[in-house]
Amino acid sequence: MVRVAVIDREYCKPSKCNLECIRFCPVNRTRRNVKAIELSPDGKHAVIYEDVCIGCGICVKKCPFNAISIVNLPDELEKNVVHRYGENAFKLYNLPIPKTGGVVGVIGRNGSGKTTSIKILSGLLKPNLGRYDNPPEWDEIIRSFRGTELQTYLRRLANKEIRTAVKIQYVEYARRVLKGRVGELLEKADERGIAGEVMDKLAIKHLKDRRIGELSGGELQKFLVAAVLVKDVDAYFFDEPCSYLDVRERLRVAEAIREYIDLSRKYVVVVEHDLMILDYISDHVAVIYGEPGVYGIVSKIYGVRAGINHYLEGYLPAENMRIRREPVKFHIRVAEKTETTGEYPVVKWTQLTKTYKTSGFKLYIEEGEVYPGEVLGIIGPNGIGKTTFIKILSRNLKPDSGEVLVSVEKISLKPQEVSPKIFPEETVAGNLRKADPLTLNPASWLYMELTRKLGLNRMLERNIEDLSGGELQKLAIAVALATPADLYLLDEPSAYLDVEERLSVAKVIRRIIEEKRKTAMVVEHDLMLQNYISDKVIVFHGKPGVEGHTTQPMNIQEGFNKLLKELGITVRRDPQTGRPRVNKPGSYLDRLQKSTGKYYMPE
Ligand code: ADP
Ligand code: ADP
Ligand code: SF4
Repeated sequence: MVRVAVIDREYCKPSKCNLECIRFCPVNRTRRNVKAIELSPDGKHAVIYEDVCIGCGICVKKCPFNAISIVNLPDELEKNVVHRYGENAFKLYNLPIPKTGGVVGVIGRNGSGKTTSIKILSGLLKPNLGRYDNPPEWDEIIRSFRGTELQTYLRRLANKEIRTAVKIQYVEYARRVLKGRVGELLEKADERGIAGEVMDKLAIKHLKDRRIGELSGGELQKFLVAAVLVKDVDAYFFDEPCSYLDVRERLRVAEAIREYIDLSRKYVVVVEHDLMILDYISDHVAVIYGEPGVYGIVSKIYGVRAGINHYLEGYLPAENMRIRREPVKFHIRVAEKTETTGEYPVVKWTQLTKTYKTSGFKLYIEEGEVYPGEVLGIIGPNGIGKTTFIKILSRNLKPDSGEVLVSVEKISLKPQEVSPKIFPEETVAGNLRKADPLTLNPASWLYMELTRKLGLNRMLERNIEDLSGGELQKLAIAVALATPADLYLLDEPSAYLDVEERLSVAKVIRRIIEEKRKTAMVVEHDLMLQNYISDKVIVFHGKPGVEGHTTQPMNIQEGFNKLLKELGITVRRDPQTGRPRVNKPGSYLDRLQKSTGKYYMPE
């Protein structure tokens, strides 16, 4: 067995603990002049000597900040180490194998090494084979991949025969560093003379003269995808290309990637957690498993359907490896929930209309009501009137016709884009306390259901500025749900979360709303997730910025049917896992489902 000990430097705070790890370590206590764990020379964190440590795990339990992880891995895995960031740092085994002839999708938990893999394959990070203190040269690196398909790829990468382009994960970062206007920047990046076409395909032509700083999250996302597509390179990488996009735009991005890259000659690797879309974009799938933040192992390449199913079921047959005890199951709700609790609705409205005089935007809303404990899903593009609708429901905006019969007093909002700016306090705990002090009381249900289930209990003392995108998202959701309110509006809670986190968030939302007897409206474009979270949906349609229409709240099947019909796509049910899969346009099932009007997963 090989020991991998990882100390999370963000959590390890020797100045704030009693050095429990060092004092209780049996090696330190019983062997003279030999230490398995001690303080680093600068005293800022602990260091574990993996060759001396016996892997008893005592320090893991003793550390008050949960900063230490120790795992034992089989010896034979060691020959597959691709990279280690440093002493007691994350370790990556294997790499996804880019293939010509089809898109390779990558799935895995956050912190499992997806971005690290992309950095290596795109040439941004030279792999050190685990030898962070004595990094090897390219010759040796290439030799270590002898006999694998990766060897040829890495040799060409090292010889600069492969040029690469990467769509980075966090669009907010691009907003901070990119200066200029959409059109100009794309023209400059355009090596293939297709900037105009790509802008058309992604529906961003009207943004040509817009400055990057003025773009919404979704617009910026599409711009970044376009900026990669127009490059004439050999390998294209897309790290989460769907955040902030609605369903139609997700499909557009998927189609653009497949249409504008010559898959027979080029390499394309896509990381994405919206599994319906990943399934639609990819031909093959690599799964990264392991322990987030500690180590990641990249699986062999599977066909797309099998790969996603294996991931959900938690077992990889080619590796004979169980990657999770339980399968991830999105129980797809089919029947409408019958609510005869005798309670009054939390909110109720008649048909409403509203026109903004200044912009001319018109909104037509069908009547509806929502009951305590119900979650209402909202689907629809940006600029279609969702915010306007909520403002009317809370009587912050007067409709031109119709009325709100039962209005909500207090709304708690999780905005679409989360950045450190949206949090008033400096630390995780500070923000939770401000929302509701119970979230910090381990005996309370709010702590159990929210703080713990979202894993925030581990990071209470952390500074907001140091959180990753996924961590910020979970905190923003927790703060929104903890805040006392009548209506909870959660705008795209899935952005930057992995599949398992999406499932926990869905469960947390449902439980909190049921328990508080309040109502949530959840704008969410990952349909598999939306199907899991919501009791009913409202579909917004029309022309963004010009005119919006809503449906009444309807059951999921009916709502998704309406949405998919408008998009002209059909979705079937995977027989093995029950997950939704997009049909190939013109295929037998596509034609059958269209002819019977059953666009979303007929029984
Ligand atoms: P993913 O993309 O799957 O979320 P990453 O590849 O970004 O995962 O990161 C994998 C792990 O490596 C994380 O625990 C992260 O904290 C760690 N890591 C990333 N970059 C560095 C670095 N420069 N130094 C040390 N650890 C790092
Ligand atoms: P969504 O929440 O779906 O993105 P909004 O309700 O925010 O949509 O906006 C719908 C449309 O109304 C947009 O085109 C927006 O520019 C316009 N709009 C929003 N608020 C105002 C306002 N106060 N005055 C004029 N136009 C507005
Ligand atoms: Fe010491 Fe290793 Fe045990 Fe930790 S796991 S207490 S470092 S022997």
